[in-house]
This record gives sequence, C-alpha cells and structure tokens, in this order.
Amino acid sequence: MKWQDRRGSSNVRMSGGKVVGGGIGGIIIGLILWLVFDVNPMTAMQTGQSITAGGGGNTTQPIDENDRDAQFASVVLADTEAVWGQIFQEDGRVYEEPQMRLFNGTVNSACGSATAATGPFYCPADRTVYLDTSFFQEMRQNLGISGDIQGSGDAQNQGKAGDFAQAYVIAHEVGHHVQTLLGISQKVNQARQRLSTAQGNQLSVRQELQADCFAGVWTNRNQQRVQFLEEGDIQEAINAAGQIGDDRLAKASGRAVVPDNFTHGTSQQRVEWFTRGLKSGKIEACDTFS
Ligand SMILES: [Zn+2]
Repeated sequence: MKWQDRRGSSNVRMSGGKVVGGGIGGIIIGLILWLVFDVNPMTAMQTGQSITAGGGGNTTQPIDENDRDAQFASVVLADTEAVWGQIFQEDGRVYEEPQMRLFNGTVNSACGSATAATGPFYCPADRTVYLDTSFFQEMRQNLGISGDIQGSGDAQNQGKAGDFAQAYVIAHEVGHHVQTLLGISQKVNQARQRLSTAQGNQLSVRQELQADCFAGVWTNRNQQRVQFLEEGDIQEAINAAGQIGDDRLAKASGRAVVPDNFTHGTSQQRVEWFTRGLKSGKIEACDTFS
C-alpha cells in the first residue's frame, strides 16, 4: 500500500505509558524548579517533564514524526476523512471527523477503560477510534511476516507487508463512526433492548458486517482518489477480515464467544461484505440489515 507521500490527520493524539518529553509546560516547570529551588538544571527539566507528562492514560500529545506506525495510522485516518467527507457531501450532509487515540498500556475512554488486550475499538460516546500501539506489531505477526524482514533494518521493507490489512482495520473502526453519524448504531442499540440476547447479537453481527462493507466502500473510493493499492493488498485485507474481527477481539478481552453470538461462517460473511463495498463504492450496497 502506498501512503508515504500523503498528509496525515490532525485528529490523532498519543497517550499512555510511553511518554516522550513534556513539551513547553515541562520546560517551564523545570525552569521554575531551577530558579526558585536551585535544583540541578538537568534534574529540574526531567522533573518538570515528568510532572506535565503524568503517569496516567489521560494525558495526550501529538504523535511523534519518527513513529512510523503512528504516521501510517494518521495518513489512513486522513484518507478516511477525505473519502467520507466526499460521500457525505454528495448526500448533502456534513461529515464530522472522528478523533483517533493511540495508546500504550491502558487508556480511559468515554466507554470505559481499555487495555491492549481489548484490541482496536471505536467509542461512540467520545467519537474516537482507539488503537493500542502493539496492534501494528500484532498484525504483522498474524499475517505471517517473517522476522528477518522486520529485523533487517531495511526501512523500505520494514513493516511494509501487512499495512493494507492495518488500514482495513482502521477503516472498519471508522465504519462504526459512520454508523454513529447515520444513526444506525443508535437504532441497533434501541432494537437490542426489545430483543432476546440471541436476536440482539444477530443484529450486532449485521452491524459489524456493515462496518466491513463500509471499509470496502472506502477502499474503492480511496483507490479512485489516490491509487494507493499495490499487488496483493486486497488479498491481505481479505485475510485480515477472516482473522481479525470483533469475534477475535471478544476472545482476547476474555468475553466468551459462543456460537449464538457469532453465526458460523462469520469470516466468510466478512469477506463477502467487504467485497460488496469494494466493488460498488456505494454505501447503498451495505444494507446488511434487510
Ligand atoms: Zn467492529
């Protein structure tokens, strides 16, 4: 997948344990410590930075321009903003862009706290896509990318394979944002309250399949816009659609996946709906509910 020469989104923030520097605030606090308390300047700067950086998952900062995975996620998010902005505009609507939060360890969202084990998710309450930084590594491993490519230090090859699969997962989460903007998620939640658990879960599966279809629509439209696909990319996403989904995520988070929850052939359905969106490039092709 080609992505290196495109702009990134301004809606991405980084948070969590891996805090690099405390910015201007840290320097100012450091200066005060140094001037007022006569602390060693280097110690003062470090203390100032750790005070402003904090230890919890609620402080955020812009993404590091040398962090390849973060830059990649930022470009994919910008691509989704461009495509969905256009689709909404064609429909006489205004697309409200989601936020993206990259975290390491744990994070507090408006939908509750999450860890890396939760996997990528979208929280409608704060309209934010959450990605833990181990996700990128995990995707590369799951897709069978050999360690020597990753460890070769060759910037051209490093992490290159599997990137479209990562983009697909991000596009799926953005698909949930689109469902929220279109009022689909709210309708599903209301209907679920009237239905049995099994029927409600069936509805959730349809919601998931629609997010896959929306990821396909995005792929189609982004290809028309910037010709970003390379040989093998679609197969990569199809593999990911079968391997990475909310059923797998449910397992990872310790929630039991029972056959009632997810009908047999979910992987196959995922691939089918992604392909429908991909071929048509239209959200009308994504009516998974009727
Ligand atoms: Zn989902």
